[in-house]
Amino acid sequence: MAEVLVLVDHTDGQVKKNTAELLTLARQIGEPSAVFVGSNAEAARPRLAQFGAEKVYVIDTPDVTGALAAPLAEALAAVAEQAKPAAILLPTSGVNKEAAARLAVKTGSGLITDATNVEGGEGGVKTTQSAFASNFTVTSTVTTPTAIVTVKANATAPQASQAGATVVPVDVTVSDAAKATQVTASEPKQKSGRPELTEAQIVVSGGRGTGGDFSPVEAFADTLGAAVGASRAAVDAGWYPHSNQVGQTGKQVSPQLYVAAGISGAIQHRAGMQTSKTIVAINKDEEAPIFELVDFGVVGDLFTVLPQANDAVKAA
Ligand code: FAD
Repeated sequence: MAEVLVLVDHTDGQVKKNTAELLTLARQIGEPSAVFVGSNAEAARPRLAQFGAEKVYVIDTPDVTGALAAPLAEALAAVAEQAKPAAILLPTSGVNKEAAARLAVKTGSGLITDATNVEGGEGGVKTTQSAFASNFTVTSTVTTPTAIVTVKANATAPQASQAGATVVPVDVTVSDAAKATQVTASEPKQKSGRPELTEAQIVVSGGRGTGGDFSPVEAFADTLGAAVGASRAAVDAGWYPHSNQVGQTGKQVSPQLYVAAGISGAIQHRAGMQTSKTIVAINKDEEAPIFELVDFGVVGDLFTVLPQANDAVKAA
């Protein structure tokens, strides 16, 4: 069975949930192997084994570690040369999309970005994407021997499947053209205890309707163990950081539950949340466009509805 490489998303060896999702999807195509870039691969191994990685290719080279696309693409190309994989799956992110594009050029492979599903099958790897602000679902088949695919978070529920996770060290020599140094890096500030927006199972978002008071949104999010999102109107007003913006020019989320409070449902906002499994909206205006796509809608004032919902969930 052909190998399928999965780029591991981790912080100092702590493997993120999207990697478990990608390893689960990789099993629909072939035999999953993880590609770990950085030090502390040993810390990552048990979780990679738990989700089915037969091998863990480890690239622990100073020229490659760090959030830079060009050296990452060269490193992945080196592993691909060795493994001849049917597919290489990367978690969707700005850097990974750039690395995937460079990798596709280097290996002469077809590239699909922001997939929400991948499968094996006759004629090549099949992918599913949302297009035109999630108004269309596109299925594609990548017919090159290797498919390069970036996959959105929450594309599937991770399913465990124990495997050996044999460590395979890979020596990578980065070309001078790809050598670069990251001079500064800033991590978005995350309130402790809240999950990352793109990884969260539940997202509670606030918009202009909050009038700048996100306290009922945050309180409900904390009760549900959710991440907090914001519309661009709320971000542009300086009420919430840009790192929390959901939408076309913000983050794309696909949680099990998305709660939109005081958000009208502009197409650019929908582009970032329309693939959520269940959508709930709270809006004073029963004509608000957000009600066109919700599973459950509440016409009411968010400052009344959210605290009531919060009390009800706490009491349950
Ligand atoms: P509004 O449209 O003003 O809606 C506020 C809503 O709150 C209204 O429906 C109102 O009825 C309701 N409301 C008011 N008070 C209450 C209350 N007390 N209780 C309940 N409901 C109440 N937007 C994004 O979100 N993300 C993006 O990534 C994004 N990218 C964009 C890119 C481009 C190129 C452009 C042109 C626009 C983009 N926008 C984006 C902006 C988008 O078009 C909308 O302007 C924005 O989403 C509106 O935010 P909002 O729904 O919070 O505000």
